[in-house]
Amino acid sequence: MCAIVGIFGNEKASRLASLALFSMQHRGQEATGISSSSDGKIYTIKNRGLVSEVFDNNALEYLKGNMAIGHNRYSTAGGDSILDAQPVFAKYKLGEISIVHNGNLINKKAVRQELIDNGAIFQTGMDTENLVHLIAKNSKDRLRDRIKEALDKTIGAYCFIIQSRSKQFVIRDRYGIRPLSIGKLKSGGYIVASETCAFDLVDAEFIRDVRPGEMLIFSEKVEEPESIQLYEPEYRPCAFEYVYFARPDSVIDGKSVYKAREDMGKTLAINDRGNDIKIDMVIPVPDSGVPAAIGYAAESGIPFELGIIRNHYVGRTFIEPTQEMRDLKVKMKLSPMKSLIAGKSLLVIDDSIVRGTTSRRIVKILKEAGAKEVHFRVASPEIKFPCYYGIDTPTKEELISHRMNKEEIREHIQADTLEYLSIEDLKNSIGNDRNYALESFDGDYFVTK
Ligand code: 5GP
Ligand code: MG
Repeated sequence: MCAIVGIFGNEKASRLASLALFSMQHRGQEATGISSSSDGKIYTIKNRGLVSEVFDNNALEYLKGNMAIGHNRYSTAGGDSILDAQPVFAKYKLGEISIVHNGNLINKKAVRQELIDNGAIFQTGMDTENLVHLIAKNSKDRLRDRIKEALDKTIGAYCFIIQSRSKQFVIRDRYGIRPLSIGKLKSGGYIVASETCAFDLVDAEFIRDVRPGEMLIFSEKVEEPESIQLYEPEYRPCAFEYVYFARPDSVIDGKSVYKAREDMGKTLAINDRGNDIKIDMVIPVPDSGVPAAIGYAAESGIPFELGIIRNHYVGRTFIEPTQEMRDLKVKMKLSPMKSLIAGKSLLVIDDSIVRGTTSRRIVKILKEAGAKEVHFRVASPEIKFPCYYGIDTPTKEELISHRMNKEEIREHIQADTLEYLSIEDLKNSIGNDRNYALESFDGDYFVTK
């Protein structure tokens, strides 16, 4: 999960970075940080909390310079949020560097153990710190060569932005699993960000996505960033970005997230054609089920209604550590529109079922509010496998689709009917012209280098 941003060649670099992080707050709410570079020195501020809480005017004044990198950290139950905040800053032989990372390195334990065996000491639990050590312990003269050698030892899903005192290095792994795009700022310079929704807020024009396996080098000495293809691309963008994670107004690798979600809903409606279920209204689970429900309603001709109201002041329910807390939070967050749904047959759409907490709770409150029937539709396939490539799915045992088949889940959540998208349906909805990363659905853990 997480969001990263780099701003290069703009005197308001840290301000623009904070705005970009604000627009990508959905990718992580636990901690945030920015490093800027000015006059041969790197300045860093990072803390627990939301972007708007951490970066006030004073903080942004302190973060001077015309380049900055930033990060939003996604919470994981049990993580130490302040120690594990990014950027990771270090002084080493060539000077100072600061690193932000989105993704997950799958050989992090082995690499760390080897580093520790050789005397390295670590301050955080983050895999990003491995990269700092690998860069620092290298004997190459140029930072770009050190980064390449460090990456050669790194296996996993990653987007990195590495800032030195005068340059920025942007790297996307060879599979391009996590999104990363480049834009040109109208006020001068460049932006690189996890999602294109950041470009709109800072007035940047989308140029292109960072290519899988590419390293971009931004340097004061050259107008345009230098591009080096470090690795042969084996493109596998993450399908779950389209299902849940990205903001609907973002475009990932040329495809609109909103359009993909709408098409997922349309496909659910097409799959329901010809069955004899009588439905009065289509209801999204807010917010993540909304575009799919719009698609379903458009395709089926059944009215779209906001039958569930969301309280926007409740944080994310998903990462609460205990089941009891998750149940309570879902209850606090989502409430039924009683007058609308009483006596009606509802088709309810959410983007995904992970543990089954949300869906079970929703069917319960809708039925208690008088719904006659609740037909549950899920705009993704069954999540049977944990993701090790940067999406924070729980352990296998916690995944309801790992433990139960569709009929058992229907029974568990007390829905009248339950349908998912098939993996083929999902691929077709996003656009079946590329090979997506689908490991949560099909268990194909393809990352080997
Ligand atoms: P469940 O309640 O079944 O465990 O999770 C499903 C709900 O959580 C859905 O409403 C979906 O939008 C949301 N969800 C799915 N994946 C994630 C995730 O990785 N993080 C967060 N915060 N929510 C998620
Ligand atoms: Mg949701």
